Amino acid sequence: MKRMQDKVVVVTGAARGIGEAIARRCAEEGAKVALWDLRQQDADAAAAAIAADTGAETLAQAVDVASAAAVNAAAAAVLARFGRIDGLVNNAGIVADAQLKKMTEEQWDRVIGINLKGVYNCTRAFVDAFLAQGSGSIVNISSVVGVYGNFGQTNYAAAKAGVIGMAKSWAKELGRKNIRANAICPGFIATPILGDMPKEVLDALINEVPMKRMGQPKEIAASVAFLLSDDASYVNGAVLEVAGGLTI
Ligand code: NAP
Repeated sequence: MKRMQDKVVVVTGAARGIGEAIARRCAEEGAKVALWDLRQQDADAAAAAIAADTGAETLAQAVDVASAAAVNAAAAAVLARFGRIDGLVNNAGIVADAQLKKMTEEQWDRVIGINLKGVYNCTRAFVDAFLAQGSGSIVNISSVVGVYGNFGQTNYAAAKAGVIGMAKSWAKELGRKNIRANAICPGFIATPILGDMPKEVLDALINEVPMKRMGQPKEIAASVAFLLSDDASYVNGAVLEVAGGLTI
C-alpha cells in the first residue's frame, strides 16, 4: 500500500515551484490532493497534469490565501468533496524585497498578508475538521531566512519566523489531539521565485552552500511527504532545514 493512500492533502501555492512538487509527490504516494493557487487556470493545469501522471484524484481551486473569506469557502469545498482533511501544507509565499530604509508599508503588508496571515487563515479554516477527526499533519513552509534573517528581507524574514512560531504553538495546542505541526526551512531551491536574481548573485550564493548546488523542488517535497506521513508519527514542533548545509 502507498504511504498516503486515501489521505486528503491541501497544498497552497500549488500551481508551480515547490508547491507543485509537493502536490505531485503526495499524489504519487496515493493522496487525494487539493491544489490551491491564485489563478484557476494555473491550478487547473497543474492538477490535470498531476492527475494524468499519477492517476490520483485532484481538485483545483482558485484561492488567495490572504483572504479569510476565500480560504473558508475553499476549505468548505474540500471537506464537502472529500469528507476529511489529513494534511495541510502552507506553502504559498511571495517576496517583495527592499532594505529597511526603503521598504514601503505596502511591501510589508503584502508579504505579511500572504506569507504570515495566509498561513493562519488556512490552518484556522481546517482546525475544527482536524480536531473532529483526531488526526492530521500541518507543514508550514518557512525558510532559512526565518531563522537567520536576510539582507533586504525584513518583511519576509518576519513572516517566515512567524510561521515557525505558529507551527510550534500548534504543536503544543493540538498535539494531544494527534494533530502534528512542523516547519520546513528550504535554502536556495531552483524555482521561479528566484527568477529576478542576477546570475552573479546566484552563483555567489551557491558557492556558500557546502553541496555547491541549489536544491530541487522535489527535494523539499520528499521532506514534506515524510512529515505528512505516519513515518513521522512522533515528529511534532520540529524545524527541519533542507538547505544542503547552507547554515552550518
Ligand atoms: P513560486 O515558484 O513563486 O511559487 C509560489 C506559488 O504560490 C505560485 O504559484 C504563486 O502564484 C502562488 N501564490 C502567490 N501568492 C499566493 C496567494 N496569495 N494565494 C495563493 N497562492 C499564491 O515560489 P517557490 O519558490 O515554489 O516557493 C514556495 C514556498 O517556499 C514559499 O513560501 C517560499 O517563501 C518558500 N521558499 C522558497 C525558497 C526558494 O529558494 N525557492 C527558499 C525558501 C523558502 P502566482 O504564480 O500566480 O504568483
